[in-house]
Amino acid sequence: MTAHRRSPSLTERLDVSYDGIHRAADLIKRGGVVAFGTETVYGLGALSTSRHAVARVFAVKGRPSFNPLINHFSSKERAFEEAVLDGPLGTLAQQLADHFWPGPLTLVLPRHPKSRICDTASAALPSVALRVPRGRAVQQLLALIDAPVAAPSANRSGRISPSTAAHVVEGLDGLIDAVLNTGSCAVGVESTVLDLTGDKPVILRHGGVTQDALEEICGPLSSPAPQPSSSSRPTAPGQLSSHYAPSLPVRLDVTSPRPEEAYLCLGNADQHVDSQQLIWNLSPSGDLAEAAARLFSGLHFLDHEGTRRGLKAIAASPIPAQGIGLALRDRLQRAAAPRSVTEENASDG
Ligand code: AMP
Ligand code: MG
Repeated sequence: MTAHRRSPSLTERLDVSYDGIHRAADLIKRGGVVAFGTETVYGLGALSTSRHAVARVFAVKGRPSFNPLINHFSSKERAFEEAVLDGPLGTLAQQLADHFWPGPLTLVLPRHPKSRICDTASAALPSVALRVPRGRAVQQLLALIDAPVAAPSANRSGRISPSTAAHVVEGLDGLIDAVLNTGSCAVGVESTVLDLTGDKPVILRHGGVTQDALEEICGPLSSPAPQPSSSSRPTAPGQLSSHYAPSLPVRLDVTSPRPEEAYLCLGNADQHVDSQQLIWNLSPSGDLAEAAARLFSGLHFLDHEGTRRGLKAIAASPIPAQGIGLALRDRLQRAAAPRSVTEENASDG
């Protein structure tokens, strides 16, 4: 089967029964590409040890080959077989794993000389990105596979990430072998990526584990400098500005949406707008964890329904820059970023 040509009906729908999880594991072990839910978003899973399987993931997503993938494991012990854990940052990696795994934290570490992760998955970098995700089904699946599983978000590169199996099917039906329906994702935004390969830890991407929670263990942390918007190849992978993009343009920090806009809002912001306005409230009580869990569903919904109604844009209300709000703001800023041709092609997936 050609990886990136649609073949309707060839994507199996699996549920989280014994049979469903075993079938998903079997397909991945044989080099297939299977989407499954984690606590963050749906991932597009393939054996990190197979150049062929990983190449299919890049092709299906339209992801640039220089953008490395996160490798998923059922346990910390399995994950750390792939890395060198020397010195103070090695000790810190152990502490962070003990504290946050299974969970939405990815650690970037120097690659072990005997790592089985293929160069295609790690974009030939001397480092590897490792994570142990949370969730009963994904844990069972990874334990059955018992090998590193690369799993970038199960969407076309640069588009809105999927937080339900329906989102995956909408974008990738016929392009992948199966989708394991594990329900909607509890955290709803991608993992926090922490680089432990330099002199000190650096946050490469805000995500499901907050900076405050990390700093309790690591001390003060810095984020990388933002990439210039014209960059086609970022110095830190995953830092391109245009990403998570709906087809409608996105306008940020809006308290009074225009009639021709759909409104993505938080708290009681929707009480002051016209009853005709198309609205998705991320969390009526202003709870940022609930807002994160509902972000990608909201963007999917407003994009579809707004397009159907002939609206011109999605307006997003201001999000506080605290806790997981940093991850939400990051995703919205990238959804709103200008989309040059270069970036459309070079977005991370
Ligand atoms: P995604 O697969 O879309 O969730 O994105 C994975 C994120 O992890 C991207 O931001 C990647 O660039 C980042 N990543 C993966 N491997 C590495 C690595 N070896 N060094 C730095 N960042 C990495
Ligand atoms: Mg992604």
